[in-house]
Amino acid sequence: MLPERFNVGSDSCGEDLAAFERMRAMALTRPGAGKVDSVDVGVPEPRPGEILVRVLACGVCRTDLHVVDGDLPEPTIPIVPGHEIVGRVEQVGDDVETFVPGERVGVPWLGWSCGECEFCRAQRENLCRRARYTGYQINGGYAEYAVADARFCFPLPAQYDDMDAPPLLCAGLIGYRAYRMAGPGKRLGIYGFGAAAHVITQVAVHQGRDVYAFVAPGDNHAYRAVLSVTGGPIVAPQLGLPIKEDVDGENPSGTRRDSRVCGTDA
Ligand SMILES: [Zn+2]
Ligand SMILES: [Zn+2]
Repeated sequence: MLPERFNVGSDSCGEDLAAFERMRAMALTRPGAGKVDSVDVGVPEPRPGEILVRVLACGVCRTDLHVVDGDLPEPTIPIVPGHEIVGRVEQVGDDVETFVPGERVGVPWLGWSCGECEFCRAQRENLCRRARYTGYQINGGYAEYAVADARFCFPLPAQYDDMDAPPLLCAGLIGYRAYRMAGPGKRLGIYGFGAAAHVITQVAVHQGRDVYAFVAPGDNHAYRAVLSVTGGPIVAPQLGLPIKEDVDGENPSGTRRDSRVCGTDA
């Protein structure tokens, strides 16, 4: 049975909210449980500045797994994980002028920041020490509905369908930020090859850059991920690093030579 305070504990879901209908959600109900439980709870009501979205799709980020496994300290409990939310606006709270009901929006990891500290005032609110995060301190998207602070939500271009857009809301977002900061160089080195690299390498290849992906030796999953987005052969760079020539004996047959996969412990 879910505790009474299910909707308490985030700025988005206060205890004074009267649930007007019920919804299903998948919630972490004790710290480090390693799993989420199906629960029946009231649909939260948007407070001023917030929107209520009907969840259309929600991605699974590694950070969600960290929350569920107890690797991140002190999550709000219970909490609905999920911070790559694609949803349709059902209702807007007072003072929301940026979205209207029926609009499709994306809800990312950063769910709230103080707006007052040096970082917030410098438009670097991702570094705010009082920041609150979707699916960690604010109920997220593994539910039929979610409430979010409208200031941190994105309108979604129509060309992305519901199932393609979620990774852009975390992996794409942080990947593109790093990509932009890397500057305009022709050669791009990517250390580790998770979701952010998977997304941003597609951008880099599209822009004609040479991508050097540094992944752990023997990480065939990462090797395959690199190949899936570059289409290129794995060739030895001039870095003196151990190189895996193929993936499980399967020699990539792509014709592009704009990718390098370097095995490294770095
Ligand atoms: Zn994430
Ligand atoms: Zn702040």
